Formats: sequence, C-alpha cells, structure tokens
Amino acid sequence: MAEYDYDLFVIGAGSGGVRASRMAAAHGARVGICEESRVGGTCVIRGCIPKKLLVYASHFAHDFEDAAEYGWSVGRTDHAWTKLIANKDREIDRLNGIYIHLLNNAGVELLEGRGVLEDAHTVRVGDRTVTAETILIGVGGWPTLPDIPGIEHAITSNEALHLEELPRRMVVVGGGYIAVEFAGIFNGLGVDVIELYRGEQILRGFDDDVRAALAQEIRKTGIDLRVECDIAEIVKKGHHLELVLKDDTVIETDAVLYATGRAPNTKGLGLDTVGVEMNAKGAVVVDEYSRSSVPNIYAVGDVTDRVNLTPVAIKEGAAFADTVFGNTPTKPDHSGIPSAVFSQPSVATVGYTEAEARAEYGEVDIYKSSFKPLKHTLTGRDERTMMKMIVEPKSDRVIGCHMVGADAAEIIQGVAIAMKVGATKAQFDSTVGIHPSAAEEFVTMREKFVEPDGD
Ligand code: NDP
Repeated sequence: MAEYDYDLFVIGAGSGGVRASRMAAAHGARVGICEESRVGGTCVIRGCIPKKLLVYASHFAHDFEDAAEYGWSVGRTDHAWTKLIANKDREIDRLNGIYIHLLNNAGVELLEGRGVLEDAHTVRVGDRTVTAETILIGVGGWPTLPDIPGIEHAITSNEALHLEELPRRMVVVGGGYIAVEFAGIFNGLGVDVIELYRGEQILRGFDDDVRAALAQEIRKTGIDLRVECDIAEIVKKGHHLELVLKDDTVIETDAVLYATGRAPNTKGLGLDTVGVEMNAKGAVVVDEYSRSSVPNIYAVGDVTDRVNLTPVAIKEGAAFADTVFGNTPTKPDHSGIPSAVFSQPSVATVGYTEAEARAEYGEVDIYKSSFKPLKHTLTGRDERTMMKMIVEPKSDRVIGCHMVGADAAEIIQGVAIAMKVGATKAQFDSTVGIHPSAAEEFVTMREKFVEPDGD
C-alpha cells in the first residue's frame, strides 16, 4: 500500500470540512486540512453568524418604536455602524480562533492556502505538496452576479458585512434568503431600501402563503419591494449609481447589493483534471455517502449543491467520517430539514409546501391561522403572524408546518422534532399549549381551511 502523508486531507475549513476532519481524527485518522481564507467558512466568517448579529442590530429599531406604548420614553436614538461592524468582527475573530483551537485539539494539521488537486491523492497548497489516501472537498459556494454592464459597481453579502459607512439608499436585487434578510437588515438600520425581484413573488420554492405573507409584512416595515423588475445596466454617476431597469425606468441609489444566488466554489480546483464529475452548475456529483465519481474523493456541503445549509453540511461531514473512518456506513439524512429566513418578521418552515403535498398526496388537509401577535395589541404595529399546517388525511400525519412571524425559527425547531418522529395531527392536538404564546397555535388549529368558493 502506498504511504501517504495523511489518511485524510480536507480542502476547505468550513462547517462541513471542520466537522469531518475532527471526527475522522477522533476515529484515529491522520488528518490535514487547508483553507485559503479564514477557518470557519461561509457560515462563521461571512454568512449565518455575522448576518444574524446584524439582524439583531437592525431589530432594535422596531423595538424602540414598540416600547412607547408600553410606557417607555426612548428618546433620540442613533446608530453607529462602524461600532457594530467592529464588534461583529471581534466576535467573528473569536469564533475563528475557537475553530482553529478545535482543529489543533483534535490533532488536525492546518495548512493555510488554497488547495489544488494534482492527482487523485495529491494536493498542492501554496508551495507545499501533500498526499492523502482520502480527499474531502468542502470548499462551499460563492455569490454569483449576472453579467450586465456596470456589474462591477455592485456588492454582494460579502461586502455588505464590511461597508465603511451605511449608505442612505440601497437597492437589493433578488428574492431569495439572502435578499430578504439583507433588505430587512438595512431597512431596520435606517437605509431607504428598494428590493427588486425579477419574478412575481419572492421566496420561490417556499409555500405560497408564506411568500405572500412575508411580501406583505416586509412592505409594511417600509421596504419598497418591487416585483417583475430586473436591472439591465448599472451606471456610476459621481457618488451615486443609476440603475437602468429593463423597462427603462431609472432608479438612483447609493449602493446596489446583488443576492442572486451562489455557485459551488470548484473553479481552478483541479477536479476536472482528476476526473471528478461535476454537474452543469459546477457542483461535485456525489452518491448517498458523499462519494464522488473518483472513489477516494468525497465532497460535503454547499459544493455538492444538495441542501445548502450549515447544519446539513455538518451532518454530511459527520456521516462521511463515520462511513470512511468509523467503520459505520452512514447516509446523511436529508429528510425533514427545517430552515429559517431571518427576515423581519422571520420565516421558518419544515416539510412539504401545500403545492408539493398536493402533488405527492393529492388531497391534503390545510390548517391556517393569521393573527395580530399579543405584543402588538398595545404597540399598534400593523404586523400579523401567519401559521400553516399541512396534514396527510389517510395517516393523519403532519407533513408541513410553516410560519411567518416573530421567533419562527425557535418555534419550528421543536415542531420539526415532532414531525421527524411522525407525529399526527391528533397528537399535536392532544399536546397542551403554552399560553400565551404564538407557538400554541400549532396545537390549537381545529378548523380545516376551506378554499372560499370562486366566483
Ligand atoms: P437563492 O437561490 O435563494 O435566491 C436567489 C435569488 O436571486 C432568487 O430570487 C432568484 O430569482 C434571483 N436571481 C437569480 N439570478 C438572477 C439574475 N440573473 N437576475 C436577477 N435575479 C436573479 O440564493 P441566495 O443568494 O439568497 O442564497 C443562496 C443559498 O444560501 C440558498 O440556497 C440558501 O440555502 C443559503 N442560505 C440560507 C440562509 C438561511 O438558512 N437563513 C441564509 C442565506 C443563505 P428566481 O427565484 O427567479 O430564480
């Protein structure tokens, strides 16, 4: 047997790569990992964590307004963007340090630099060349921008987290997770935000009631959401930008943030030379055990474009380590994955949308609730919470739960456990609610929703 430098070499120290390398080391493997940017990857360095800190920052604006009718005189409020960014960066540095410690403590050797495959067992990292029996690709994804004139004046979520100053006006392009989250962040921080989405309704792929409810709620918060709009050209005019839309409308703004999707980070990685199969989007094609078309090369996380979420990458990384080094073949379970959008208000969802459920099961029972949250009976804020449940009538199993409203992620996480173990509507109903809460709606929805007769 050939003698390699490592049993496992991981390219990319993000959520999936770090989990896989630590677990493989715990199983006794000699492990190396390389990272071209900062250890922690998208989630820790330029994604979930800094984004959520900014969501908290932004939300205070609503809280200050809401406080008045509870008797508080908040007085004049000011926001110091540079202070927020400095504090956020300090926390990201701390987390980056923790990740490096975790690797060190696990005995994983960290190499700084971009890893490029030279052959199926050899990786070049800067001027070093290392060999490994097994290679794991965990390089994640990167924002994509459409090829239109002036696109070099646009920023992505990466730059949005490091702006030197807050612009007065911003246009956010896109209608997915990142677009609605960043539109909410900047709107809360006092920026005049226009969100442009090319389709009819934001959050494609989510339940239609969720999409409609969120669009309505974010408009109420002051975001100027415009649908069926697309930019043809961006023109820099002195200190501002002119966005020329396809219908020739011109919008003047100070910054334009594109959140138009992400692509697997596989360019220049040497995967094609080694013969690793990739799909049209450049994602590594893997089997149920995260194994690529080259038997000793595996891939986990966003680079495989399966379900692009941090906790999923972590589970894929763990399953890979158990399979290859733990003597326990494990397929990552991609069923019943809950997810949230940290828009304001937030969205969280698990299971089938109504449309998916009808396509799969034919008839389904729908339960819906839309209400003014108790908190806002005093504040006067015109915000509604929407909750929806989808039940498969033959088995009575709850197969979809969706929510738009405060704390949606915190609520849906628990619901997802119930659904994972196959809870029925009757079991939801027999559960005692926590009163007063929004969450209790999920155990008190009695009336099936009946579509009003059309005319
Ligand atoms: P999404 O794919 O979710 O959304 C991209 C949006 O941009 C869509 O609305 C899409 O429109 C639009 N778009 C795509 N191309 C163009 C174009 N050329 N011109 C104009 N509009 C365009 O990507 P995101 O960037 O929002 O997020 C990437 C991934 O990151 C997601 O898949 C998600 O899994 C993950 N993520 C998860 C988060 C969470 O869990 N909270 C937070 C952030 C990201 P259309 O609908 O018409 O295709």
